[in-house]
Amino acid sequence: MSKHIVSGLKYLATIELRKKGLTQQKIAEELGIDRSTVSHYLNGRNLSWDSINVAKTMIHLCPKDFLVLTSVLVKDIKKTQKIISICQSKKFEVEVSDSCIGCGLCVDSCLMENVSLESLKANINSIGCCGCLLCQEGCPTNSIKILEVNNDRKY
Ligand code: SF4
Ligand code: SF4
Repeated sequence: MSKHIVSGLKYLATIELRKKGLTQQKIAEELGIDRSTVSHYLNGRNLSWDSINVAKTMIHLCPKDFLVLTSVLVKDIKKTQKIISICQSKKFEVEVSDSCIGCGLCVDSCLMENVSLESLKANINSIGCCGCLLCQEGCPTNSIKILEVNNDRKY
């Protein structure tokens, strides 16, 4: 069943990339799948609509649950990051205060690999942030604020 849910997530990602004007070949490259699979998705062939509905439900979960569940199902962090970045429609702004002590815990906790240390201070890219709050929750000095700035959810 997990394989089918992952296919449902890839289907939703395919639809999103198509809306952005990507060709079938580009979509296939982005998602690491065959072009023929992309064609099937776009033409509605051989699809498990139950799995697609489960995938749509996952997208409605809170960002942390969506991310963690996807990583468990996909079992590949790069592919997980790709699906999350395409299907997560919320946008976030990140603030790191001067109380940061540069411990690096937030670097290790970010499954999106979106945090680095620069001059012993956390540097977090708002564009790559999916809003899971794992970094914020684990920061020993409460130096991170993750703020949702919009919600363009489509499903
Ligand atoms: S976990 Fe907190 S204190 Fe540690 S580097 Fe990240 S922001 Fe700074
Ligand atoms: S909330 Fe923090 S841990 Fe989650 S994606 Fe954004 S930067 Fe990474």
